[in-house]
Amino acid sequence: MEDFIKPLSNEFENIYFIEGAQRARYPYSNSMLIGDYLIDTGISHKRLKRLKKQFPINKVFLTHWHEDHISGNYLLRDAKFYCHSKDKAPIENVDKMIPLYNVKNTPIEDDLKSLIKLLRMQNIKIDTLIEDNDIFNIDDQLKLKVLFTPGHTAGHCAYYEMISKIAFLGDIDLTKHPYYGNLDASLIEFEESITKIKSLDINIIVTGHRGIIEGKDKIDGEIEKYESILNGRDERILAYFSERSRPIKLEEFRNNNIIYRKYSAYKDFEIIAELLMIEKHIEKFLKNNLISEENNGYILI
Ligand SMILES: [Zn+2]
Repeated sequence: MEDFIKPLSNEFENIYFIEGAQRARYPYSNSMLIGDYLIDTGISHKRLKRLKKQFPINKVFLTHWHEDHISGNYLLRDAKFYCHSKDKAPIENVDKMIPLYNVKNTPIEDDLKSLIKLLRMQNIKIDTLIEDNDIFNIDDQLKLKVLFTPGHTAGHCAYYEMISKIAFLGDIDLTKHPYYGNLDASLIEFEESITKIKSLDINIIVTGHRGIIEGKDKIDGEIEKYESILNGRDERILAYFSERSRPIKLEEFRNNNIIYRKYSAYKDFEIIAELLMIEKHIEKFLKNNLISEENNGYILI
């Protein structure tokens, strides 16, 4: 078998981890194959073609609209596509991603368009909309449950196979970089979705950008680490407020390495996404009555 295709369970032979190219680093991501159901299509053009040669893929479940998770859709035109209603529009028309990233009329707009071209992305039609707790029977043996887990995008879904207790979490990705930097993201929902995941009985987790995580203690530890990254961001933003006893405008946080401690090769994009993410923290602080609005800015209560 190809080295990027790995069985996930000895007991259930039809569940596979499919590793994305470049160890699933952006602009690629991991997939999971369960029977003839494939979750996400961002493993790379080449890998998807090789996978298709070995396995029939009749149904494609998408976790969310981001380009690194849906770039291979066009290679699976014969399959039926499934996603949540809130993420349908930018999957069916990839040009709609650009306003959602808030990059219209910035230099990033052209970068993103080039990437969409480079990944050979094409629009596809969603056949069926999925909802929280929908269950799909696979091979008369497995039950794949949809977990509506918004926050990263408005319609993000994770998937949980109830018999093997294997979950695919999409971009609740358990990396060092939790992301909620598009207009349709919400930190409040993202944290609620993490809480929902914690309530599940899971043996194995696969995420969009992390490999296989196995065992309850390891899984609990990884989720805890992920939450502590979010808490660290809360603390840094609150410290910024407390060090200045005057109203702070959102714009002051721009290009300040509050979320990205070091910007990467994607610096220009990260600066835009970072400000959007800080806005999501501010939304949470307002809801929790930690800050209030004053003179077009925000101040600690
Ligand atoms: Zn994503």
